[in-house]
Amino acid sequence: MLKLSGVSVAYGSYLALQDIHLEVAPGELVVLLGANGAGKSTLFKTISGLLKPVRGTIEFKGRNITRLPPHKTVALGLAHCLEGRALFPEMTVYKNLWLGAYTRRRDKQGFRKRLAWVYELFPVLREKEMVPVGALSGGQQQMVAIARALLSEPDLLLLDDPSSGLAPLVVQPVFQTIKTINEAGTTILLAEQNAHQALQIAHRGYVLANGRVVLADTSERLASHEGVKKAYIG
Ligand code: ATP
Repeated sequence: MLKLSGVSVAYGSYLALQDIHLEVAPGELVVLLGANGAGKSTLFKTISGLLKPVRGTIEFKGRNITRLPPHKTVALGLAHCLEGRALFPEMTVYKNLWLGAYTRRRDKQGFRKRLAWVYELFPVLREKEMVPVGALSGGQQQMVAIARALLSEPDLLLLDDPSSGLAPLVVQPVFQTIKTINEAGTTILLAEQNAHQALQIAHRGYVLANGRVVLADTSERLASHEGVKKAYIG
């Protein structure tokens, strides 16, 4: 589904990612662990086309997308749910969701079907359909962000730190929903600081430190790895 080969990314002269090799197979739920500033958001922005690598290639469904802009990658089936959610706070929940389906806007029936599915995943969003997103709680806004990404009908969903800023009580349901979305057929690459919970739902994981992949293994082995436990689980 996704293959990064030797990807390096720079902000000016600062090399934020160095020689990243990473693969995600169809149907997988893969987690990217790393401390603040390790390079997770930079990696996601590079995959979705917001940033261009200085070296390396990115393939999505067998196609080279290294230089494609975000509106083209989303049309190919790659949705990026940004850290900080990037919603339109003064617009209603419905309007935010509708915008998520922009690349599929001609398929009205498909939109209604998909909308019914995301309302099933997040029933509270149906109740709040006509409420401006800015009036929702942090957890509900995170649901809108994930639901909006799902409305583009992605084959691959990039979720950047979905549990960040959420009250502990709503973190567990968010992880549960991510697992449900994956089980329904969407491949997911998830960046998380909450390593303990993420490793419980993911099949495999990568650990990023200072812009490099330092570990890659199954979730089970990462969860029992001494270095991972010490640095990210406690
Ligand atoms: P966080 O979870 O805190 O966002 P992260 O793992 O996503 O962390 P990135 O945001 O990708 O990390 O940042 C990786 C490195 O690149 C950091 O050292 C950061 O300071 C730097 N960086 C990020 N964005 C920029 C930018 N626009 N200009 C310059 N440096 C940047």
